[in-house]
Amino acid sequence: MSGRPLLRFAGGRYDERPQPPFLAPDASGLSRPLADLPGVRPALARRLAGFGLATVGDLLEHYPRRYEDFTDRKAIAALKVGEEATVRATVERVTLEHGHRRRVTILKAVLRDQSGVMIGVWFNQPWLAKVLEQGMVLSLRGSVRRSGGGASFTVKAHEILAGEGETVHTEGIVPVYPASESISARVLRDLVHESRRVARSVPDPLPGTLRAAERLPTRADAVLAIHAPRSHAEAAAARERLVLEELLLMQLGLLLHKRAAQQAASAVSLGRPGATAARFVAGLPFTLTDHQVRALAEIDADLERDTPMRRLLQGDVGSGKTVVALHTLLRAVEKGHQGAFMAPTETLAEQHLETMTALLGPLVACELLTSRLTAAERRAALGRIASGEAHIVVGTHALIQGDVAFRDLAVVVVDEQHRFGVVQRDEMARRATADGGRPPHTLFMTATPIPRTLALTFYGDLDVTVIAGAPAGRTPVATRLVSEGRRAAGYAFVRKQLDRGRQAYVVCPLIEESEALQSAAAVAEAERLAASEFSAYRVDVLHGQMKAVERDAAMAAFKAGEIDVLVATSVIEVGIDVANATVMVIEGAERFGLAQLHQLRGRVGRGTEKSFCLLFTSRGEERNAGERSSARLQALRSTSDGFVLADRDLEIRGEGQLFGARQSGLPDLKLAKLTRDREAVVRARRLAKEILAADPGLESPAHVPLADAVRSAFGDELAWLLKA
Ligand code: ADP
Ligand code: MG
Repeated sequence: MSGRPLLRFAGGRYDERPQPPFLAPDASGLSRPLADLPGVRPALARRLAGFGLATVGDLLEHYPRRYEDFTDRKAIAALKVGEEATVRATVERVTLEHGHRRRVTILKAVLRDQSGVMIGVWFNQPWLAKVLEQGMVLSLRGSVRRSGGGASFTVKAHEILAGEGETVHTEGIVPVYPASESISARVLRDLVHESRRVARSVPDPLPGTLRAAERLPTRADAVLAIHAPRSHAEAAAARERLVLEELLLMQLGLLLHKRAAQQAASAVSLGRPGATAARFVAGLPFTLTDHQVRALAEIDADLERDTPMRRLLQGDVGSGKTVVALHTLLRAVEKGHQGAFMAPTETLAEQHLETMTALLGPLVACELLTSRLTAAERRAALGRIASGEAHIVVGTHALIQGDVAFRDLAVVVVDEQHRFGVVQRDEMARRATADGGRPPHTLFMTATPIPRTLALTFYGDLDVTVIAGAPAGRTPVATRLVSEGRRAAGYAFVRKQLDRGRQAYVVCPLIEESEALQSAAAVAEAERLAASEFSAYRVDVLHGQMKAVERDAAMAAFKAGEIDVLVATSVIEVGIDVANATVMVIEGAERFGLAQLHQLRGRVGRGTEKSFCLLFTSRGEERNAGERSSARLQALRSTSDGFVLADRDLEIRGEGQLFGARQSGLPDLKLAKLTRDREAVVRARRLAKEILAADPGLESPAHVPLADAVRSAFGDELAWLLKA
């Protein structure tokens, strides 16, 4: 072959296009203010800054959302019915019409090119009547539809072409940037073009050996190609490379975090389970499920080692995680150490205390630490915790606030851990080791099941155990959507259950802005129902603004069967366990997330009786509730498997929504989508492991840029983790 590829330094290839000379890596240009670029006037600089783009570096990391393909541009005469294409045409006349139904507007424009004339049609964009003018040249994307006798061109997207340089912007593959109303794609393309020299020399955090082995382009090539690809393949390769880099940095950070947490100091080995633990299992009022037994075995193996356990226990609502937690805590106590059990809410902490007292008996001294304690109570509790008199301490955030000091903390369990941030969930371990103490073994529990590829990211620093299924004897909850018109029938159905001696929950709509508003609404709804639909039954209310004693009293009465209908806010999402409650009405179901609906529904179907969940949509909201929420409700109807639901929720809402990635302390992903890039997540995980196997602390000189990039991706929040 004559055309032997000439390899560039960084592994890239020269091709037929003349290439600029290779530039040494130089990051300095990235911090250059965009305001310094030629042609950027102060007004534009302000708009760019308002858009979050202050420097050349910001600009180059403002990646296109998609591309407009002008390579298939056609003449009007060559268009075929039904086929999507791009056309360039001149506007001759614009008219605005209203459809049969008043709400629909139809904008029509007569469009001409050298080959012919057509009618372009825009639906529901009346403002365009003021924008489109005779003589304007448009680039239009759309397709020809037959309508009535003739045909028209339904416009999907258009761009107004004006002034010089237009061909640069409308030929080939053109990037489209995220929501840039005030900053046109044209401006961004010009600025990127202006910044090419900087882009060509951006340093690459990935070591050359890795790039060669994985056949990855350099960062500079990828950045240039993602903004100005010559083909779709080139754009895809550039994206793939940048996505992989993002995910790799994240995986490296997570694995370094895990290593730092596990190697800071050795934990106490708790050996094999002793007689107390065995007696606990034997004394339970039920037999453990196979999954529970397996979970205990995995945890026991961890506790035997002197590496601190960092394990996530994933199990659907009602799968029986609490006994696993108690067994784990007991393992510390029977060897003379202490355990701590952290829960996100006071109600849940109190319920755990109750369960512990019931199942562990008087042998174990349990202590409650919440913000509800008076100053004197808290002082006394802290004294017992510090002296070791308290064996297991159950509490809320109060456990990681102020001056809580344990005498000898060996095991920590964090319940509903997704409600805590990454830093919070490790805070107890950090405190234990702060002054040279031993790190505790930690079990993180979650009832929000997530797909494996996501677990690699969100819980990438943990080992994972799954409790699948529920204890025997449970039947799935029958779930029904109840439309506005069927409301009365829905209530009648609930009354039929009540007449059989069963109990019901009515969950009030979510009002995110204010817990007080939400509580007030629950009180009003309870009064309404007590006076109307359920006037023949005993109705009570449970909400977040009630005092602990009032809430406990209401719960106790419901448990004892003294209340038929409990009207509640979403406070019942966690921790309520009444087997005789067989029906739940969820008002305003479209306002809840899928995971939350699943959790709420988990409150029924706890006994052997057939249970039901009725999803009411808010009055008048069905129509505009939108496709997404109805897709969610359909998903909830169709399965009771939390994993399947989590997957669906993810597809519908996207990962950011579901997990509040920001709050969880993970770096923002600019380009990668965990749902879309699942394979890349797995690949990044593998590469991160390989890199760290050879260089566990990422300390070799070749890895300096990589280590820096990991640190800057994770930011200050996790800096202490990576320093260790
Ligand atoms: P979650 O995993 O949602 O925290 P819990 O631990 O609260 O679930 O358990 C739900 C209910 O199931 C509790 O009443 C608990 O006592 C009961 N339970 C747990 N394990 C079993 C089992 N193996 N067989 C029967 N019931 C069980
Ligand atoms: Mg639980």
